[in-house]
Amino acid sequence: MLLKEGTSQTKGRDALKNNIEAAKIVAAILKPVLGPRGMDKMLVSPVGDVTITNDGATILKEMDVQHPAAKIMVEIAKAVDDEVGDGTTSSVIIAGALLEKAEELIKKGIHPTIIVDGYRKAMRMSIEVLNKIAEDVNVDDRAVLIDIAKTSMESKIVSADSDILADLAVKAILAVAEKPEDAGGNYYMMADLDNVKVQKKPGGAMRESRLIDGIIVDKEIAHPEMPTRIENARILLLNSGLEIEKTEFEAKISIDRPEQMKMFLEEETKMIKAMVNKIAAVNANVVFCQKGIDDIGVYYLTRANICAVKRVKESDLNALAKATSARVVTNLDDLSQADLGYAQLVEERKIELDRWVFVEKCKNPKAVSVLIRGGSQRIIDEAERSIHDGLMVVKDVVQKPAIVAGGGSPEAYTSQKLREWAQSIPGREHFAILAFADAIESIPITLAENAGLDVINTLTEVRSKQSSNPWIGVDVKEMKVADMRKKNIIEPFAVKEQVLKSATEAATMLLRIDNVLAAARNTRT
Ligand code: ADP
Ligand code: MG
Repeated sequence: MLLKEGTSQTKGRDALKNNIEAAKIVAAILKPVLGPRGMDKMLVSPVGDVTITNDGATILKEMDVQHPAAKIMVEIAKAVDDEVGDGTTSSVIIAGALLEKAEELIKKGIHPTIIVDGYRKAMRMSIEVLNKIAEDVNVDDRAVLIDIAKTSMESKIVSADSDILADLAVKAILAVAEKPEDAGGNYYMMADLDNVKVQKKPGGAMRESRLIDGIIVDKEIAHPEMPTRIENARILLLNSGLEIEKTEFEAKISIDRPEQMKMFLEEETKMIKAMVNKIAAVNANVVFCQKGIDDIGVYYLTRANICAVKRVKESDLNALAKATSARVVTNLDDLSQADLGYAQLVEERKIELDRWVFVEKCKNPKAVSVLIRGGSQRIIDEAERSIHDGLMVVKDVVQKPAIVAGGGSPEAYTSQKLREWAQSIPGREHFAILAFADAIESIPITLAENAGLDVINTLTEVRSKQSSNPWIGVDVKEMKVADMRKKNIIEPFAVKEQVLKSATEAATMLLRIDNVLAAARNTRT
């Protein structure tokens, strides 16, 4: 016996068939979600939490699939989400279609290896085709960036507010984007989404959402008598605390006499007072501490008219450092004025029942916050998912300033070009390329289907009109075939590229598997 007892083995065609089936099911679940006319899904977690969303990545994340092939589809979607932030649903639908078409070819006797090769070639060719029609954009053209962000939110539940969310996404990315030193003459930038802090609170209207040119710290000021509004804030970021740290080992201090106790306390007070004096000496008027501040510390800080916030998350401290150009200080003995950061305003504000500290009007902040407001937790959760997509697509374009139009136009155009190209490819690969062409057409087809349009008529019209204009696609809002570029439905080239790459990767990965060895489940755990 070669395998451990209890291991089940599925071989050859059965393994492949089984995997394709599972992947197709995942694709079928996501199909109705695609595009602005897609349906929403209600997801109920094991503990009964309800999420209503239209976001492919979220649906897959919450679905908790078990089948290994289905898991690969979920992973691919996640990769797309991490990489470019949009196009997750599309990648799963295309991967499912690629596998469905492959199944037909296999039935006709074409070996999976040939299909894999054909698919890979077709994928590279598709990207070449897209590259040719992609339009270069100017990163300084805010209107274009806003349209890109808006398009990514067209399909979200909060799309009615996409103009405000898109505006926030563009402002946030432009604030944190930086031109790398090795960019040379090339006009491109790098943007790190970690530098955009999204803070949400239910209540108010979504229109009250806004960009803070600084950081929102969701903590309150350590004591009510400390100043709550500081203009021209000189900010100290301390990753230790203002307290006498308890030692790692259990140190015993034996106090035999009352005077000793008094001395001990006096010593502690003196040390804390000295710490506060050091802070006051560099003229800091706001302190963010990663650890605690004890009562004596609070007392002396309040007396020195210094505003302090304790137990600030490390990530917030780092964000504050980027926003205010402060250096995070560990030891107060080395403190100098150069370590301090600057913000024109630090203010504690009441947000519903909480009090948060707003550090804002920072000079050229390299980290910013977006405050999302909205009617209910569910709505702001979806708004957060939407702004994530918006931030990501703006980042994509800032880093690689090229766009294509949406509405299935690039997929329809590419599939036409692939069919033409396939004529020159002899042998069985020819069929694989045609299958790839069919598979990517599933995007305009699904968009039309979800809008309730006549699929055959729509596709025929798109195909015929595209000979003169690659941006002819399915306008699901106006329910007709239209020039999607003119409608300002535009998407990053990087998203389409990633979608094609990931979908092909998932499909070919599954097509190459001819043996599934499943270990017996460990029942003991
Ligand atoms: P994904 O997770 O793949 O981004 P979405 O549900 O966000 O899935 O749908 C994206 C698709 O919807 C893209 O093909 C995009 O071009 C298309 N789309 C967005 N807005 C429109 C519109 N107004 N009309 C037609 N298609 C649109
Ligand atoms: Mg999308």
